[in-house]
Amino acid sequence: MFKVNKEKCIGCGACVGTCNEVFDFDDDNLATVKEQPTEENLELATEALENCPVGAIEKE
Ligand code: SF4
Repeated sequence: MFKVNKEKCIGCGACVGTCNEVFDFDDDNLATVKEQPTEENLELATEALENCPVGAIEKE
């Protein structure tokens, strides 16, 4: 399960740019997981997780 920690997210948009099938902006312009990754986009979603500048994307 991927999720975005809204306490940490600064809304930079990097994750949405990397994998917009999984990440999107919410009404506060912070990132949110709109759909859990599938086999097809898991690699991109993981890349987004690793590249988040503030480590706001968590996997559990
Ligand atoms: S990359 Fe990180 S800080 Fe930037 S929008 Fe996504 S979760 Fe938020």
